[in-house]
Amino acid sequence: AARLISLHLASHPEGGWLPPDRAADLLACYGITCARMVLATDEHTAVTAAALWDSPVVLKAYWPELVHKSDVGGVLLGLSGPDAVREGWRTLEERFGDRLAGVVVQEMAPHGVELLAGVDSDAVFGPLVAFGIGGTDTDLAADRGYRLAPLTAADAEDLVGASRAATLLAGYRGRPGGDPAAVRDVLSRLALLAAEQTCVTEAEINPLIATPDGVTAVDFRVRVE
Ligand code: ADP
Ligand code: MG
Repeated sequence: AARLISLHLASHPEGGWLPPDRAADLLACYGITCARMVLATDEHTAVTAAALWDSPVVLKAYWPELVHKSDVGGVLLGLSGPDAVREGWRTLEERFGDRLAGVVVQEMAPHGVELLAGVDSDAVFGPLVAFGIGGTDTDLAADRGYRLAPLTAADAEDLVGASRAATLLAGYRGRPGGDPAAVRDVLSRLALLAAEQTCVTEAEINPLIATPDGVTAVDFRVRVE
C-alpha cells in the first residue's frame, strides 16, 4: 500500500485534485470501500468496463475543474447494457465536447442513506474530520460536524451521534437505515489517511452511501500538495 501511495503522489508532482481513479486507489489503500470504477477515455473502453460487473452502471463526466457534476447534467444513473452505455457516452460527449477529459464508469451502489465524510487541513489545528448528511442537497441540509484528528473511538461516536445524519442512520420514517459502526470506521480511516499522508490536504466523500450491510463511497475527491 505504501508503494502504491508513493506512486500516486509521484505521478502528481504539481499537486491539486487527484484524478478519480487515483483517489479511489488511495482510499482503498486505507480500507475504504469505493464503488468499482474505471476512468475511460474512449467509448469502447467505457462499454467494455460497464460489462465487467453485473449491476447497472453510472457514467460521470470528468475534467479536473468539474466539481458539481450533476448540476451540469454530468451524471447518468442506472444504465444497463452496452446500448445504454454507448448512448450515455454520446450524450456526455455532445453535452461537454472538448472539456471532457474522460468518463467515470462506475457500478451502481445500492440505495441508502447519503452521507458526507471528509478531512480538511486547518492552518491552526491540522487535520479536521468532517461528517454530516451528504448527497446533492448536502448544503441545504446544513448538517456538518467536525472533530480534530487523530480520531478516538469516542470522537467518532460523538461526531456521528451528534449529527442529524444519525436520525437517518437509525431508519427515518420507515426507511432503511445504515450501519453506524461502518460509518465510524470510515471516519477513523480518513483521519488516519490525513495523519499519515501529510501531502493530502483535503479529502471528501460525498456521498458515502450507508445501508444496514455497510457503506460504499461513490463520489470522492482527494487534494494533494
Ligand atoms: P456530484 O456530487 O458531482 O453531483 P455524484 O457522483 O455525487 O456527483 O452523483 C450525484 C448523485 O448521484 C449522488 O448523490 C447519488 O445520489 C447518485 N450516485 C452517484 N454515483 C452513484 C452510484 N455509483 N450508485 C448509486 N448512486 C449514485
Ligand atoms: Mg457528490
